[in-house]
Amino acid sequence: MSAGWRPETLAAQALGRVDPRTGAIVPGIEPATTFLRDPDGGYRTGRSYARADNPTYEPVEALLNALEGGAASLLFASGMAAATAVFQALDPGDHVVVPRVMYWALRGWLMGPATRWGLAVEMVDTTDLDRLAVAVLPGRTKLVWLETPANPTWAVSDIAAAAEIAHRAGALLAVDSTVATPVLSRPLALGADLVMHAATKYLNGHSDLLAGTLTTRREDGLWERLRAVRLQQGGVLGSFEAWLLLRGMRTLFPRVRQSCTSAQALAEALVGHSVVTEVLYPGLASFPGHALAARQMHGGFGGMLSIRIRGGAEAAIATAARVRLWKRATSLGGVESLIEHRASVEGPGSPVPDDLLRLSVGLEDPADLRDDLTEALAAG
Ligand SMILES: *Cc1c(COP(=O)(O)O)cnc(C)c1O
Repeated sequence: MSAGWRPETLAAQALGRVDPRTGAIVPGIEPATTFLRDPDGGYRTGRSYARADNPTYEPVEALLNALEGGAASLLFASGMAAATAVFQALDPGDHVVVPRVMYWALRGWLMGPATRWGLAVEMVDTTDLDRLAVAVLPGRTKLVWLETPANPTWAVSDIAAAAEIAHRAGALLAVDSTVATPVLSRPLALGADLVMHAATKYLNGHSDLLAGTLTTRREDGLWERLRAVRLQQGGVLGSFEAWLLLRGMRTLFPRVRQSCTSAQALAEALVGHSVVTEVLYPGLASFPGHALAARQMHGGFGGMLSIRIRGGAEAAIATAARVRLWKRATSLGGVESLIEHRASVEGPGSPVPDDLLRLSVGLEDPADLRDDLTEALAAG
């Protein structure tokens, strides 16, 4: 597809590729695990084995490159496989700086296995640039990790400023952009070196596959290591899942836009509700990171919000028990709206307040979502 078309157009047509053999306007699935070797022992097609190279990945990785403005992308079997690969590409003893509020399973892996393996992991409030600047050690810190907006308080970190702090110290910046999606934010354009997605969430959008992605600004030494981590550890996505992921990505823009519009309306409707003590949503002018989010995100503030319930954990759990339309389930970014008492998922040691309900706003009629939730709140 010729350059110059806008991202939404590129996504809708999955770069507009047509199969030259059949004329099919939808890419096919290549299930082969192994590829023919030439008589001279080489691989003229560039492909030898599906753990190294999978042709079904190619249109997905090409579309990610286009949407994120990156040089190369890699698909992984899950968001966790993609995120942990970044840290596994470093050396024991390397110092990394990560957010205090972040995806809980990654926080658990960093504090447990990664630390035992010898990574020096430091947690800071990455929304506070002074603290971040102190935590990043020149010549010693190798990587700064951001998640913005951060799950599940939706705290917003400044990507451009963090990139400057990281680069000044000789470190790289990686951003978990799962919640922002390439529709709302382009971390590489703001100075990040790597962008990661749990493609399980908005990129696929249908709660029916696990996948993760990494996209790099340039194909440097770290990227070579990342390719090797995927090849050697084998956390690769199946061909059918890669094909489904591309199908999901074709509707990414309208899905994310609708979720943003509905989430904004819902957040505004819940402010001042007698049972809701706080609404956490970057699209509210009262939210601490709102001005930064308005600069850094374009076209909306995301489909995720959280509410804090008067009466603490018990009242929050009881509210979630009363909804009829929202689904009580973990995960986010699907067509169906989800509600979750986050502290019971994250367990002890979680920085998440125990009166917090996390809401993933899907594609239902926003008035139905509001009515169901306000009925559940009122019955408390
Ligand atoms: C879900 C999620 C992950 C992990 O992705 P999986 O596909 O579940 O492994 C990482 N980061 C964020 C922000 C997520 O929401």
